[in-house]
Amino acid sequence: MAIVNPDFIQDIREFGADDLSACFNCGNCTATCSLSDQYNSFPRKMIRYSILGLEDEIQASVDPWLCYYCGDCSSSCPRQADPGNLMMAVRRYLVASYDWTGLSKKLYTSKVWEIGVIGFISLAVLFLFIFFHGAMPTELTSQGGVQLNTFAPSRIIELVDWSVAGFLSFFLLSNILNMYFKIVRTRKDLKIPFKLYLTEFYQLIVHFLTQRNFSKCDTEKVSFMTKVRNGNYTYWLIHFLLMSSYVILFTMIVGFLGWFQTDIVHPWYFPQRILGYYSTIGLLIGIIYFSALRFKRENEKSKKSHFTDWTFLLLLFLTATTGILVHFFRVNGMPMATYYTYVVHLMVLFPMLIVEVPFSKWSHLAYRPYAIYFSNLINKASELAVVKKSKS
Ligand code: SF4
Ligand code: SF4
Repeated sequence: MAIVNPDFIQDIREFGADDLSACFNCGNCTATCSLSDQYNSFPRKMIRYSILGLEDEIQASVDPWLCYYCGDCSSSCPRQADPGNLMMAVRRYLVASYDWTGLSKKLYTSKVWEIGVIGFISLAVLFLFIFFHGAMPTELTSQGGVQLNTFAPSRIIELVDWSVAGFLSFFLLSNILNMYFKIVRTRKDLKIPFKLYLTEFYQLIVHFLTQRNFSKCDTEKVSFMTKVRNGNYTYWLIHFLLMSSYVILFTMIVGFLGWFQTDIVHPWYFPQRILGYYSTIGLLIGIIYFSALRFKRENEKSKKSHFTDWTFLLLLFLTATTGILVHFFRVNGMPMATYYTYVVHLMVLFPMLIVEVPFSKWSHLAYRPYAIYFSNLINKASELAVVKKSKS
C-alpha cells in the first residue's frame, strides 16, 4: 500500500521547489514538454504526486531524470507554478532518497552541512600535507621543471587517488543499486527477461557519453543553425564539453597520475599537455557559461539556483584555476609557488570529488543514463508482456 506523506509538499521545498498550490492541473506543461511521451508522461503527474505526498511513487519514477530542464513547461504554465523547477527539486530529492548514508539529504538541505563537510575535507588535506609532505627543493630539474614529485610523490598521491576512487565508486554504485531497487524491482507486475538487460545496456553507455537528450529538450522544430542561435545546441555542447573535460581529468588524475604529473616539462604537443589544456579550457568555458546563465537569470532553466548549484560551480572554478596556476608556476620554474598552490589545488579538488560525485551534483551524470536504461527495460518488458498476452 502506498505511503502518503502529508508534509511532502513542505519537504520538497527544502530541495528548491516552489509553492505548488497554484497548479490547477490543466496539463499544459505535459502537452508542451518535448521529452514527455506515452510511456513517461511528465511533469504534471509529478506535481500531482508531490501535492498528494505519494513518496513511494515519486521514488519509483524515472520521469524526473528524463527531464533536462529546458523550462518550456514553466513558460507555458498559466499559473506560474514552475513545473520545470519542481522537476529539478525532485531530482535533488531523489539523489537524497537513493543515498543510504543520509549525507546527501543533509548536504542538500543545510548550508551548514554543505560548508562544514567541504571545510572538513579541505582541512584534512591541509593537515596531511603539513605533516607528511616531502622535501621542498628550490633547485630545478635538468629540464628546467619544478621537483613536484619530491614534494608530493605521484606514487603516494596516486595511492590516495585510488582510495578516494574506491570510496566514490562504492557509494555511487551502492546508491545506483538502491535506485534500481526503487525503480525496477518495485514493478512486481513485470518480469524483465535477463536478455533485455544485455541488449539495452548500450543505451546506458551512449547516454552517459553523450547526454544527448539535452539537445532534444526543446519544442521548436527549427534548423540546426536556428537552434545554435537560440542557444539550444550551445547548451548541450557546453554541457558535453564540461562533462568530457571532467571525465578526462578524473581519468588522468586517478588512473595515470604518474604519466600526467611529471617533473619533465614536455612540449605543448605531448598528449598529457593537450588533454590537460582541453580539459582545463572545457571546464573554464562550462563554468563561465553556466555561471553567466545563473547570474543573468534570463531563461527559465537558470532563473532559480539552489545554494548547492553555486557551491558546485565555485568548487569547479577553484579546482580549474588552481590547476592552471600549478601548471603555470611549474613550467616557469617557480618551486615554492608551485608547492603551495598544489596544496590549495588538492584542498578544493578532494572536497569537490568526495562531496559532488556520489552525494550531489555530479551524481546526476550517472543517474540520468541509468534512469534511461531502467526506463527502457520497463517499457520494453511491458511491450513484450502485451505481445505475449495477445498471443495467449
Ligand atoms: S503546473 Fe501549470 S501547466 Fe502544469 S498542470 Fe499545473 S497549472 Fe497546468
Ligand atoms: S523542463 Fe523541459 S524537459 Fe523538463 S518537464 Fe519541463 S518541458 Fe519537459
